[in-house]
Amino acid sequence: MSDSNPRISFVSLGCPKALVDSERIVTRLRAEGYELAHDHAGADVAIVNTCGFLESAQAESLEAIGAALTEGGKVIVTGCMGAEPEKITQHHPNVFAVTGPHQYEAVVAAVHRAVPPKHDPFVDLVPPEGIKLTPRHYAYVKISEGCNNRCTFCIIPKLRGDLVSRPAADVLREVERLVEAGVKELLIISQDTSAYGIDLKYAPSTFKDREVRAKFIDLARALGEFGVWVRLHYVYPYPHIDEVIPLMAEGKVLPYLDIPFQHAAPNVLIRMRRPAAQEKTLARIARWRDICPDLTIRSTFIVGFPGETDADFEILLDWLDAASLDRVGCFRYEPVRGAKANDLAALIPEDVKDARWHSFMQRQQAISEKRLKRKIGGRQQVIIDAVTPGGGKGRSMADAPEIDGAVHVAARRPLRVGEIATVKIESADAYDLHGTAVGY
Ligand code: SF4
Repeated sequence: MSDSNPRISFVSLGCPKALVDSERIVTRLRAEGYELAHDHAGADVAIVNTCGFLESAQAESLEAIGAALTEGGKVIVTGCMGAEPEKITQHHPNVFAVTGPHQYEAVVAAVHRAVPPKHDPFVDLVPPEGIKLTPRHYAYVKISEGCNNRCTFCIIPKLRGDLVSRPAADVLREVERLVEAGVKELLIISQDTSAYGIDLKYAPSTFKDREVRAKFIDLARALGEFGVWVRLHYVYPYPHIDEVIPLMAEGKVLPYLDIPFQHAAPNVLIRMRRPAAQEKTLARIARWRDICPDLTIRSTFIVGFPGETDADFEILLDWLDAASLDRVGCFRYEPVRGAKANDLAALIPEDVKDARWHSFMQRQQAISEKRLKRKIGGRQQVIIDAVTPGGGKGRSMADAPEIDGAVHVAARRPLRVGEIATVKIESADAYDLHGTAVGY
């Protein structure tokens, strides 16, 4: 590739959904002949894909924009924060352009204005799977945009709009290209994976001479046929989720459910506008584990939600004990501007939120450790993410990239990134497992 092609640096902040947006933009720009720069220095244009979910994420985004501006190139800002451009221009009046979430065309148009593409037919050769910002062996696949729920702490529907699903065949064609390109693990994402296809009224589309409905369970089944790991993220606790558990037990999709419960106290859940029958949820979890004993459940919770009482918080801790989840993330409630929840009840003082967060984390850590320890002595399939002297570091079926733990593997022969090894588990610490490869 010629040195004189325009160079673009890219910062992608926020969740995997934003990462997929970034991949689409980068794929498009590479197809037009732009080069990717490793850092802002020397780049003609810097693109910052921002996250606007929490105040802390907004602060990080503003900092990243500031850093890009300091390096001198033209800075284009996109992503969730772009929905409120004045927040950006107040702090950084010199940004070249601001576009909102999923405005790929607008980002590309802004890049064209900043530095027009140089015509070179050879650089149009972009791999058919697109440009991945993740390692070659795993890929995020976004099956829909937006969300029809109206959780009161969340402004995502305001930023990203209502649910818009991709036709099933479109998703499956992308997956086919990814698998052909060597991807071994698919991370299925959206704002609400279980709602997939509701907006399309589950309309079927044709993939390889057969009809596949745009429905969560049908898509999960079709994804399971590619013979690679399929991990389902952001599954809202609707009753129809129960249908996917047998597919997990059969090994068609990974026995891993990323299902944000957010709280357990009925009062709080009602104010959150989330499903509030947590007793029933406990019974469902028990049933899921009966059907699929290896099931890993990951969830996220919010402590310090407006009006959360000590009694509500105790209910949450007791529920955690009863649910015995494997992996849990916890956030202190942040009064994001525009979130309905801020006006529902009194805000909880920061020191109370902090104290609750610490006791929550302490309680859950003991649970997670206990569940991890049960794996000692057993064997796990481990996908290798990095090679180290004498072995590698990878993840079992229970570990999603970035958010879960790792498996540290000792091996007699060199491991390769992306290979799946059978590992005998010898020890566990708070988050990670350690073991030796016994099969390749
Ligand atoms: S389901 Fe998720 S994205 Fe949708 S409103 Fe609730 S928290 Fe926000």
